[in-house]
Amino acid sequence: MQILDTIKELNACFGPSGCEEEIRNKIAELAKPFADEMYTDVMGNLIVVKKAAGKRGAAKADNFNEAKAGAEMPAAAKAGTPRLMFAAHMDSLGLIVTYIEENGLLRFGVVGLVEPTDLKAIPVRFANGTVGTVYSDTGADKPGIDDLFIDIGASSRKEAEKLVQKGDMAVFDTPARALAGDLIVSPYLDNRAGAAAQLLALAAVKKPAYDCCFVFTTQEEVGRRGAKPAAFGVDPQYAVVCDATRTDDQPKSRHQGTTIPGKGAAIKVMDKSVICHPEMVAALKAIADEKKIAWQTDVLQEGGTDGTEMRKTAGGVWTGGVSIPVRYVHSPQEVCCTADIEAAARLMAAFAETKPGF
Ligand SMILES: [Zn+2]
Repeated sequence: MQILDTIKELNACFGPSGCEEEIRNKIAELAKPFADEMYTDVMGNLIVVKKAAGKRGAAKADNFNEAKAGAEMPAAAKAGTPRLMFAAHMDSLGLIVTYIEENGLLRFGVVGLVEPTDLKAIPVRFANGTVGTVYSDTGADKPGIDDLFIDIGASSRKEAEKLVQKGDMAVFDTPARALAGDLIVSPYLDNRAGAAAQLLALAAVKKPAYDCCFVFTTQEEVGRRGAKPAAFGVDPQYAVVCDATRTDDQPKSRHQGTTIPGKGAAIKVMDKSVICHPEMVAALKAIADEKKIAWQTDVLQEGGTDGTEMRKTAGGVWTGGVSIPVRYVHSPQEVCCTADIEAAARLMAAFAETKPGF
């Protein structure tokens, strides 16, 4: 699995929060060869099950169950202990049309934490393939969201409405590209990088010590809304979140984060919404050292991930995190290092193969 190619493939799929069907189907296609079972829940989370070594029969991944109201959770998610849940969110930030001007320009709001000042002259695309560019009509140095519009080329409201309706979402529309070294630049490395790492980990695990659920979650960018029901359904004893984290290498960094792209998988200690279980942090560090996987510490004074929700599920879950350092996170052009994605994948796979000592 070539990481840049996988990121390109994932980013070609539409998937802003709440509209994850296309990205979910692509991830399911990539996960299928390595899965014992796959299903979606009512929130649209994709749960890919790999059973503990010794319990693995014939692969049943053809059995891709779409969630139905009142459906029973598949037996694989409930049988056997202990269970380990990985989570990487598959949704992305987006823009949402709120008004169509007489002249065909689209006014819009944001889905998730998007900075209006990052948006001027950014290409976007809608689910139906309609493309446009964002621009400002006020000349403000720091445009607010209401200074901005999307131009899809339509010259009237009537013409625009043939292509786009109020409530339609758009995503940033540039491809992933290689930079110098192992760095890549792309929209949505948060969290296509984490999703790619989780897919790589799924492929790499040979003898899971646990029943593993690799969950690709929905609606993280609007408040981690998919992870909570997913964790409730899977009911894990152990959990590891794989998501992007901010870096400490930008000019004039105030050192409120700790990670540097290229220095390895970032083992999460805390962010603003979670303090990882110390035993999980210690176990991840020990496994990384033993397997000679490059790692660094992830401490962040802001943000949150699906780990926040998993940690607090039911009676509490032993939760840790393996983060990917991403520069300019939440902007339309994020930068990360493919070697960190690979290190994160190796660390998660190794953790899945290690018997819990606590
Ligand atoms: Zn994220």
